Amino acid sequence: MKAKPHTDFVRLRRMHERGDYDPTTIHAILDAAPLCHVGHIIDDRPVVIPTFHWRDGDTVYWHGSAASRMLRANAAGDVVCLTATLLDGFVFARSAFHHSANYRSAMVFGVPRKVTDDAEKLASLKGFTERLSPGRWDGLRPVTAQELKATAVLALTISEASAKTRSGPPGDDAEDVTWPIWGGVLPVHLAAAAPIDDSHVNGAYTPPATPFTSD
Ligand SMILES: Cc1cc2nc3c(=O)[nH]c(=O)nc-3n(C[C@H](O)[C@H](O)[C@H](O)COP(=O)(O)OP(=O)(O)OC[C@H]3O[C@@H](n4cnc5c(N)ncnc54)[C@H](O)[C@@H]3O)c2cc1C
Repeated sequence: MKAKPHTDFVRLRRMHERGDYDPTTIHAILDAAPLCHVGHIIDDRPVVIPTFHWRDGDTVYWHGSAASRMLRANAAGDVVCLTATLLDGFVFARSAFHHSANYRSAMVFGVPRKVTDDAEKLASLKGFTERLSPGRWDGLRPVTAQELKATAVLALTISEASAKTRSGPPGDDAEDVTWPIWGGVLPVHLAAAAPIDDSHVNGAYTPPATPFTSD
């Protein structure tokens, strides 16, 4: 049986059959998406900022300069909306109306907390670096106290969240399927290209592998 919405706010109204509130689904989308967008209100205006995120259990994290307007606003006790999206395909129908997209998206709402404990902060930053390239953290020059102080980390419990997904062919009207134009899905996926060494490498080190592909 499908999980129920955590609150009425996150209950999908439009295309509700595409909704999923199962933490496993939401976690998988957050983990597969390399970046998210954080929506919040600053000076009575909505602001949506793209940023990296990472997850540990039922907590999603993001970070930035301690002087960042976003980070300071997010630590002020207001609700934010964090959205992560993976585009899986362009869906070409026989009518403009039925064009669509195949995708997986997740939205998490809540009041974030600023991570103030240095040990938790460091552990979560390790989680972020390891997400970008597993095994990299241990080879890095250690974080300094000044760098830790200059970095703010926000944590949001995934307690009010929704996922929406679409897959499959276009939903043409029955009378349109013989219309003389191509219909179907053009799959798209995220993939890393070949690494580009900087001028200090000189072939001495192995480039990082990244887990980010949306296949
Ligand atoms: C790649 C992509 C392309 C899209 N293109 C379009 C487009 O061109 N036009 C369009 O109208 N819509 C598009 N959508 C769908 C869009 O994200 C919304 O789901 C849709 O517009 C309904 O919005 P609403 O405010 O009426 O949702 P409602 O169903 O009223 O939203 C209620 C609650 O449902 C949840 N919810 C809604 N949408 C999502 C979502 N995408 N992911 C996770 N939770 C969600 C949220 O918790 C929200 O608070 C696209 C989505 C993706 C990922």
